Amino acid sequence: MEQAKGKTCSICGEWHNYEEFSYGNRENRSYCLKCSREEKRAYSSGGAEAATAYRENQRAKWKNA
Ligand SMILES: [Zn+2]
Repeated sequence: MEQAKGKTCSICGEWHNYEEFSYGNRENRSYCLKCSREEKRAYSSGGAEAATAYRENQRAKWKNA
């Protein structure tokens, strides 16, 4: 039986396969592609503060229910 390899995204809290964390030749990150994309969008509109706010808002949804 093949066991799927993956980990939990530190932004959305969902478990994803490692493929969801790969960024081409870049190092794997602790959050999934979907969250990375959303964070990038937040960053482009509001800079580092907006990106941080996005991460914290997403985490609050599942960490402090
Ligand atoms: Zn995620």
